[in-house]
Amino acid sequence: MHCPFCNANETKVVDSRLVAEGQQVRRRRECVTCSERFTTYEAAELLMPRLIKADGSRQPFDDEKLRAGIHRALEKRPVSIEEVEASISRIKHRLRATGERELPSRQVGEEVMSELRKLDEVAYVRFASVYRSFQDINEFKEEIERLSEQHKSEGEG
Ligand SMILES: [Zn+2]
Repeated sequence: MHCPFCNANETKVVDSRLVAEGQQVRRRRECVTCSERFTTYEAAELLMPRLIKADGSRQPFDDEKLRAGIHRALEKRPVSIEEVEASISRIKHRLRATGERELPSRQVGEEVMSELRKLDEVAYVRFASVYRSFQDINEFKEEIERLSEQHKSEGEG
């Protein structure tokens, strides 16, 4: 690929390793002309199901949107990029494993929540509060009520 600094045609790979549980290859490249170094990530492009929005419209699966949402929830949290990428790989794997060509976009949100719950509780609550309140305000209220009931009974016990 072209050098992003000087646009020269020739760059060489100086290091290459598997990341995100083997789902990606990270390559360090060096420009033959200006000697600047940069990193590329390579991942297999597998067909993802299209997403059915709440209004019934269909959208292509958007990797960057998923990644941005997760990073927003994890802002300033002690979670490595590597862990985030592994989570994204698992989410995509599970969505593909359904074998469906179309899935409710809600299902992506549920998968993100189940991954965030394992990664970082603060990020999970952040994401759940934003996601649930937009998707279904009643369900979110029930979840909060359920959680506070739980705390109450834990307090009594
Ligand atoms: Zn260059």
